[in-house]
Amino acid sequence: MPPTPQRDFGAPTIVIGAGPHGLAAAALLRRSGVPAVILERSDRVGASWTQRYDHLRLHTTPGASKLPGLSVPRQAGPWVSRDEYVRYLERYVVHHRLDVRVATPVQRIERAEPGRGTQWLVHSSDGPVPAGAVVVATGRCHTPNLPHWPGRSTFTGTLLHSAHYRSPALYRGQHVLVVGAGNSGTEIASVLAGAGAGRVRIAVRTPPNILPRSSARWHAVGRLTEALPLAWRDRTSLLTQRLAVPDLTSRGLPRPRAGLYTRNVREGVNPVLDHGFVDAVRSGRVEPVEAVQAFDGPDVLLADGTRLRPDTVIAATGYRPNLHDLVGSLGVLDEAGQPLAVGARTHPEAPRLYFAGYTNPLTGVLRQAGIEARAIAHAFRGETARSPLPAPRSATA
Ligand SMILES: Cc1cc2nc3c(=O)[nH]c(=O)nc-3n(C[C@H](O)[C@H](O)[C@H](O)COP(=O)(O)OP(=O)(O)OC[C@H]3O[C@@H](n4cnc5c(N)ncnc54)[C@H](O)[C@@H]3O)c2cc1C
Repeated sequence: MPPTPQRDFGAPTIVIGAGPHGLAAAALLRRSGVPAVILERSDRVGASWTQRYDHLRLHTTPGASKLPGLSVPRQAGPWVSRDEYVRYLERYVVHHRLDVRVATPVQRIERAEPGRGTQWLVHSSDGPVPAGAVVVATGRCHTPNLPHWPGRSTFTGTLLHSAHYRSPALYRGQHVLVVGAGNSGTEIASVLAGAGAGRVRIAVRTPPNILPRSSARWHAVGRLTEALPLAWRDRTSLLTQRLAVPDLTSRGLPRPRAGLYTRNVREGVNPVLDHGFVDAVRSGRVEPVEAVQAFDGPDVLLADGTRLRPDTVIAATGYRPNLHDLVGSLGVLDEAGQPLAVGARTHPEAPRLYFAGYTNPLTGVLRQAGIEARAIAHAFRGETARSPLPAPRSATA
């Protein structure tokens, strides 16, 4: 990267979280001459990825998974493994010479007394740090969401969230019920079925939109058709699914009624990119069942009244951003705990407090990291040009 004149804003810019969104934002701020300090609670970058299951591969292509300024190496192949992606994030830090302070959890952000360029006080394990601007990038998938099913605490089998599932080895010979048919649930169920689990069922509340994995390039189609009406896009996506994915109704998995675009807009849900799930259902190795309603001792009660007695239940039931402790007192979250303004937009009462990584676009979250980072760096340049702070001084990055 060419030398960049640095700007003196009086108080540092702080990025919270060294995941893809935080790293991309810091890299593009730095490229704009704004050195940012990244505070990361764990002891390494890309910590969320290191904690995900062993056989995880990205369901987005390398081109849609790279962050600004550095390609994912060709050797990583078309479906990048978890460990390759962690190595890529580590290289990204070195490549952009990012300043990451690990083992520095941030507890909360509060408004600072107005001073020389200071907007925020960031309370971390190192004490309160004044900041001119803050980018919150602590992850949309921050905290596992485990539903409060009635009788959950009476369950005598093993219940875990997919965030704590690592590999199929532990479940050999077991009866496993996976709850939730998103990308994680369908992938975990098919891997378990192929790796010696005794019986694998998947509880499905809403039949997923499924596309072949090879159609990861549908992201490009999604971008090209963005301007068209939702209903039209839905109809074409349902038609594509009819042509590309066999009907699994007789196996207990009917075709989805809502199109993938509507589900994304209404529920923030993305389609399943098939990693072998369709074959596993078709051959009976994974058995779809109704949604889970309650637990009762050793049993799981389903919506159609069926009782199952699995050894293990793996809840692939999603995540929450859990931003309340961090920014809950600032009036910047909606009722569901989501930031009211994301990306380059800031809340009118919270200037220079940015949120990166809190949407789930069909075009892919990792691709979105670059888009939001660019927008934030751009907004930042606009703000600093208007600010009465000292003029930029020349220096080299
Ligand atoms: C199983 C799974 C597979 C996925 N696969 C894909 C895929 O193939 N393609 C795709 O585009 N998207 C995928 N996603 C979605 C998304 O890309 C990832 O969740 C991605 O990690 C989001 O990046 P992020 O930087 O927003 O959050 P994260 O990667 O979660 O990074 C947040 C960072 O903030 C740190 N942090 C949190 N709280 C604090 C705090 N208080 N103080 C300091 N640091 C803190 C965390 O330790 C973490 O390092 C996947 C998600 C999951 C759950």
